[in-house]
Amino acid sequence: MKKILVTGGAGFLGSHLCERLLNEGNEVVCLDNYFTGQKSNVVHLLDNPYFELIRHDVTMPFFIEVDEIYNLACPASPVHYQYNPIKTVKTSVLGAVNMLGLAKRIKAKILQASTSEVYGDPQIHPQTESYWGHVNPIGERACYDEGKRAAETLFVNYHKQNNVRIKIIRIFNTYGPRMHPNDGRVVSNFIVQALQGKDITVYGDGSQTRSFCYYSDLLDGMIRLMNTGDDFTGPVNVGNPHEFTILELAEKVIRLTGSKSQIIRKPLPSDDPTQRQPDISLAKSKLGWEPKIELEEGLIKTIDFFRTIVK
Ligand code: NAD
Ligand code: UDP
Repeated sequence: MKKILVTGGAGFLGSHLCERLLNEGNEVVCLDNYFTGQKSNVVHLLDNPYFELIRHDVTMPFFIEVDEIYNLACPASPVHYQYNPIKTVKTSVLGAVNMLGLAKRIKAKILQASTSEVYGDPQIHPQTESYWGHVNPIGERACYDEGKRAAETLFVNYHKQNNVRIKIIRIFNTYGPRMHPNDGRVVSNFIVQALQGKDITVYGDGSQTRSFCYYSDLLDGMIRLMNTGDDFTGPVNVGNPHEFTILELAEKVIRLTGSKSQIIRKPLPSDDPTQRQPDISLAKSKLGWEPKIELEEGLIKTIDFFRTIVK
């Protein structure tokens, strides 16, 4: 039985990860400050004697004995990470310093939840891990993008300088049940708007693209990466390479919910990437991984979840 720390464990992806790791027979410690996560995401795990829930902010040091650390703590929605941008940078950078320091001290293996945002508004398409990205260092998204880029730098240097066993996963837009209804990300926004019969807010002309991965596929890739040999550190892209425009997503959500909502246009936020699609060749070859759940199937499951919570 491994003892595993999941930071950001009460969030959307973190709570599903805690559940998966417990089901696979591990002992799990979930650490969260509940900024965007919620106790209700993990309350069903509290009866399990191998699950522990701790309120803690990763910008502060934390000490524990574990075998593995999954570092997911960080708001992921543009609305939330731009709410307090200084705190977002601190969470990524100080969080990485604190968790890497811990991993070094206790000789734990540590995985960083990085992001496709390290590629910024990419000029290479699809994005491969060797692409350095196109990020505005002083723009609205910089607190998140540059915070995550600095975290990658810290991970790589703790590995080179201190032999810390690291793994970096670059996650592309992932969705599914337990996204917060007010999260502000496109999939949850559109589904909630459709179920409430409100206007569907497409930002810009809706021609910008994203490639949407269902959470269970993402977690398969993440756990596979953690279980690779010490010589493979990543970064590795994990996401669904099937690319859609935001307008196509809006139309799918309207059709699948049977909603009468209308599509309306809102201004495009600054630095909003115009295209995003992962090249997953590395994940295929190193992790033997590729996604199984296509957008419509994942949307139907996600819509079913939102029907239970949206009034
Ligand atoms: P989320 O907002 O649901 O989860 C983030 C969790 O981190 C929340 O529970 C939040 O309360 C916690 N948190 C935030 N700041 C913290 C702090 N200072 N100390 C302790 N806990 C803190 O988002 P998510 O979609 O589950 O994302 C999880 C991770 O995956 C994040 O690091 C995110 O950057 C990364 N990621 C997600 C996506 C995606 O599409 N879902 C894409 C790329 C990267
Ligand atoms: N978006 C939109 N309407 C919304 C929310 C988002 O058109 O209500 C667009 C947003 O401008 C972006 C895309 O959907 O082009 C994905 O946004 P999200 O916030 O989910 O994630 P991002 O990939 O931009 O971090």
